[in-house]
Amino acid sequence: MALIVQKYGGTSVGSPERIKNVARRVARWHRQGHQLVVVVSAMSGETNRLIALAKEIQASPDPRELDVVMATGEQVTIGLLAMALKEVGLSARSYTGAQVRIRTDNAYTKARILGIDEQAMRADLDNGTIVIVAGFQGVDQDGNLTTLGRGGSDTTGVALAAALKADECQIYTDVDGVYTTDPRIVPEARRLDTVTFEEMLEMASLGSKVLQIRSVEFAGKYKVKLRVLSSLGDPDELEGPGTLITFEEASPMEQPIISGIAFNRDEAKLTVLGVPDRPGIAYQILGPIAEANIDVDMIIQNVGHDGTTDFSFTVNRSDYARALAILEQVKQHVTARAIAGDNKICKVSAVGVGMRSHPGIASKTFRTLAEEGINIQMISTSEIKISVVVDEKYLELAVRVLHKAFDLDKASA
Ligand code: ADP
Ligand code: ASP
Ligand code: MG
Repeated sequence: MALIVQKYGGTSVGSPERIKNVARRVARWHRQGHQLVVVVSAMSGETNRLIALAKEIQASPDPRELDVVMATGEQVTIGLLAMALKEVGLSARSYTGAQVRIRTDNAYTKARILGIDEQAMRADLDNGTIVIVAGFQGVDQDGNLTTLGRGGSDTTGVALAAALKADECQIYTDVDGVYTTDPRIVPEARRLDTVTFEEMLEMASLGSKVLQIRSVEFAGKYKVKLRVLSSLGDPDELEGPGTLITFEEASPMEQPIISGIAFNRDEAKLTVLGVPDRPGIAYQILGPIAEANIDVDMIIQNVGHDGTTDFSFTVNRSDYARALAILEQVKQHVTARAIAGDNKICKVSAVGVGMRSHPGIASKTFRTLAEEGINIQMISTSEIKISVVVDEKYLELAVRVLHKAFDLDKASA
């Protein structure tokens, strides 16, 4: 008997029929003698609908109240799934984040989990009850509802698995595993049997939305056995193997050089032109950006000419307008010539632990993009990834040609 945490995403619970299928799948695992905690997302499209509703009332919704509104989506699906399980004769009990006591900080709309009280869930599990928990939500120390950032149900699942020391955390979604890139963009993308934790962390942080980055961080910190699977097959049949996130690397012989291509559309670039090239300038530009709680991703400072230089960085597109306004102020202080911005850029990245032992990946990336006439605006690298910023209109082309150039469409040997 194992303790398994399963998480079902929005598409998997997108209709009453699908919820009934989830109940059948859960029932099958339960019949096999396993203890089950099931985390669910809101029905697909529901969180977007709730945000749009909030914006009809307040252009920039109050974060505390937005969390109150957004958290309702998952409250519907936990109740419906519990009913569906009761209908097939099983004992099930739904819990909101606050009822479990998923304790978070008070950073509304992007709260972090601080701790989870597992006694109530344990008592249910011990008497054969299936525990159903609302994903994406928690409660701060003053009892306020909080949410964990878009895609946060993944993190609820992995955090529960860590707290309960579960044998496995299964993320059920609308694809049957982690692919070499988003199969919606490249139909030739292939499912990976395994992906290393390090690679998954990079892919998630570089935009592969199949797992929320924080869920991968949690899995790494608590060594949770994490698997991505499809919920869309016959619920009465054993599902395929999905993709296992591993903590060990394959031998260098078996390890592909590049495991996947990730991309992110939510990027924007800002440039301060003609700033004096002197110590402290990066701090004077980025200090006010940090104070406004805006995350900066890539940074480039050009070689100076005649005592001045250009300084560029990227931020999330949703922070673009705020960052631009801050730079207009900064411009006065640092006596810069001008501020330029571009919110029609994207970032495309090749990720693979095999890069460590294979030189030439960067040049192959640049050559592949050059052959398509795609101009590279910014570059950043780490040991296991290379990222480029390009015009948004080239996103799909860049992903496709890199996927092909690194032979990701071919079955590995
Ligand atoms: P859920 O609602 O189940 O959480 P998401 O939409 O958040 O599902 O994540 C699944 C989606 O992630 C897939 O439908 C796919 O389009 C996208 N995706 C992006 N990159 C990848 C990848 N490398 N492998 C698989 N899916 C990916
Ligand atoms: N329902 C939330 C969202 O759409 C959380 C999740 O689905 O993981 O972001
Ligand atoms: Mg998701």
